[in-house]
Amino acid sequence: MSILPCRKCNGEGRIFKSKYGGNDPDVWDSGECEDCKGSGSQVCEARSCNDLAVAFNDDGEALCEDCLAEWASEEFGAQP
Ligand SMILES: [Zn+2]
Ligand SMILES: [Zn+2]
Repeated sequence: MSILPCRKCNGEGRIFKSKYGGNDPDVWDSGECEDCKGSGSQVCEARSCNDLAVAFNDDGEALCEDCLAEWASEEFGAQP
């Protein structure tokens, strides 16, 4: 499995803002991406987990390998 690119900055590691939004080419670098701390890699969205995410679950959350396995066991486990 490979590391996912950050959803917020598309793996750029920085946030680019435009005056008008959309496809406006007039953009500026507004600083490091807060979500990935500038690494460009998607971080696991599970609570208090800062590992790198490798996949999305069915709820659309980016999870690391460990959390993904945990989520899968909960999803398909014996919980009523
Ligand atoms: Zn980012
Ligand atoms: Zn995790």
